[in-house]
Amino acid sequence: MNEQRDEHSEKGQEQKSWCSGKWEKRTPHMRLQLVWPLQSPGSFSIAGHQVLRISAADEAQVQMVKELEDLEHLQLDFWRGPAQPGSPIDVRVPFPSIQAVKVFLEARGLRYTIMIEDVQSLLDDEQEQMFASRSRARSTNTFNYATYHTLEEIYDFMDLLAAEHPQLVSKLQIGSSYEGRPIYVLKFSTGGNNRPAIWIDTGIHSREWVTQASGVWFAKKIAQDYGQDPAFTAILDNMDIFLEIVTNPDGFAFTHSKNRMWRKTRSLTSGSTCIGVDPNRNWDAGFGKAGSSSNPCSETYRGKFANSEVEVKSIVDFVKEHGNIKAFISIHSYSQLLLYPFGYKRESPADKDELDQVAKSAVEALASLYGTKFKYGSIITTIYQASGGTIDWTYDQGIKYSFTFELRDTGRYGFLLPASQIIPTAQETWLALLTIMEHTLNHPY
Ligand SMILES: [Zn+2]
Repeated sequence: MNEQRDEHSEKGQEQKSWCSGKWEKRTPHMRLQLVWPLQSPGSFSIAGHQVLRISAADEAQVQMVKELEDLEHLQLDFWRGPAQPGSPIDVRVPFPSIQAVKVFLEARGLRYTIMIEDVQSLLDDEQEQMFASRSRARSTNTFNYATYHTLEEIYDFMDLLAAEHPQLVSKLQIGSSYEGRPIYVLKFSTGGNNRPAIWIDTGIHSREWVTQASGVWFAKKIAQDYGQDPAFTAILDNMDIFLEIVTNPDGFAFTHSKNRMWRKTRSLTSGSTCIGVDPNRNWDAGFGKAGSSSNPCSETYRGKFANSEVEVKSIVDFVKEHGNIKAFISIHSYSQLLLYPFGYKRESPADKDELDQVAKSAVEALASLYGTKFKYGSIITTIYQASGGTIDWTYDQGIKYSFTFELRDTGRYGFLLPASQIIPTAQETWLALLTIMEHTLNHPY
């Protein structure tokens, strides 16, 4: 064991933590010492970690990478998992495993490049940028949209926005997270009773920071453009918008306090020392099929049963109770994709042609601003089989316009996208969202 350190979870247990969330272990009643690298308690260091991009040329090479994925002792964190031949595979490799991984790849003729030479230096840059930009906003006009924010700052932002636009914006609490944090949704409504609605969520995977940051920007944009932009005003005059910015609050808090690379929820699994469930494998759509893991230590652990995660269940209950949601858009990063169902089966959705056309128009609108290119298609054909995903469930519930985005970039920075790209990312994504919202407005069902 090369690295051990003291950590006290909110539940009072000591933990030892390998940097990757994947292998975090809980070890109650045991005193662990910091051995290497030297770091302050509670901080998260991934000194010397690299992100490699592996190219698997054919199915046999994809299988080899899957074997690599199963070598638990290497404690690898796949940012983009093995999929079809030719799709890039990005993996964060802890310093002590780098030589072993490179030997593994070279011995099998697998080609790779170093995408991120030193992950820690990107984390340091990000922290420095956040620190330099930190200030308490008194209004949403002075709020800094071009930096990353903590959970508290985002929750304060929601209160400011609702207070500034009492006729338009309200904050709903749809549940409480596993660790007891409130789960909030912003409701944008110009009246009516249970109007047809658009749902947008960001940050269900907590480390995908550009998504929550874009969600904040969308909220301001919605409040600002209503009554100004005629096309958007027509949407809000007829439909409501629900926006959940921090969909995984425990995970998000953890990315700030302990481990920037945390993806899953923070729930405990009885019988395992590993923490968290992948909330995008926990939905009741093909739950348990291929494309999710039964191993609680995996980054794609599906949980013991569908909706086991309160962060998922809260949305499920909300959607069912509302009963009139017409478009559901769940936003992730990274890879630059716009996807529609299905992820858990090869069968095409009944509305495939229409969804494909909407996706095509949306990515064209997105590219019109800065030239950012997105691919589009169904989840299973565009990336890989993934079961228990959000939009498969919403589509099966009858929400025809169900889409998932993977925002910037294509891997240069991955989850550590520089803050200077937040606003351009949000701006271009907004054009795609407008396309989907307008189509939904003009095609009632
Ligand atoms: Zn994600």
